[in-house]
Amino acid sequence: MMNIPDDADARRAVTPVICYPTDSLPRPDMTVLQAAAAAAQGVERVVVAPRDAAAIRVPAGSVLRISALDGPQVGDLNLFAADNLDERFYSGKTRALHGTHVTTGDRLWSSFPYLRPMATIVADTLGWYGIDQFGGSVHDVIGTRCDPYTGRLLAGVDYHQCCHSNLTRALADAAQLPLAQAERHVHDVLNVFMCTGFTRDTGQYFMKASPVRPGDYIDLFAEIDLLAVLSACPGGDCSAEHSSDTAACYPLVMERRVPQAGDLDGWVPPAVNAYDRSHGR
Ligand SMILES: [Zn+2]
Repeated sequence: MMNIPDDADARRAVTPVICYPTDSLPRPDMTVLQAAAAAAQGVERVVVAPRDAAAIRVPAGSVLRISALDGPQVGDLNLFAADNLDERFYSGKTRALHGTHVTTGDRLWSSFPYLRPMATIVADTLGWYGIDQFGGSVHDVIGTRCDPYTGRLLAGVDYHQCCHSNLTRALADAAQLPLAQAERHVHDVLNVFMCTGFTRDTGQYFMKASPVRPGDYIDLFAEIDLLAVLSACPGGDCSAEHSSDTAACYPLVMERRVPQAGDLDGWVPPAVNAYDRSHGR
């Protein structure tokens, strides 16, 4: 029998405080970055096939545009420092700083000990979506990536076109690593275009049909030299299921866009985190 204290309601009524107020975070100059991104020209285009992944290198000061092509499709994105796979996207800290879902003005942060912005979101055609009546929103940093291990655990079958496996193969090719070595670098993703949340009654992770339509895009301004790896999730728009060949899947496009000369005057790439790493010793 559950022992409910007399002051249970009073304890629940305590007002929450924001864990990480972001007022003191260094602010990107959004006016400069957004103007530069708006005038940028596409110079390289990589199509990510459905149920597969692809990679692209995006030098600091350029823009990575991820767009939907033929139909509603969700993408699982990994980001690395182009010359150092040890510095990778840190979805947990990005979530702690910006919330469960990201949009224009938010930044994608890298792992310890680097902890600096890898990219700044400068455009998001799904920015209008906000938070729906179920608590769902778009572009989450709460999911992990669909993977064959959880599939084996829950369903007892092996499925090889999960985002984890797609990202592993694409990273192995891009970084010229054996598959097993590449797999160790694959990390929790930015769920591009995915619409997710947590149920209010049971706190469970949910997904629903993505509101993305062909032509929708998100622009990531590269703050450092990036290697981006994107999987077109086998869940398609993630309206019903993932980790199978059942859902309708569509390609995604990654486009590298270069700003006009002079448009980024005054902008400098962020340095790695200044903590001295002595850890009290
Ligand atoms: Zn997936």
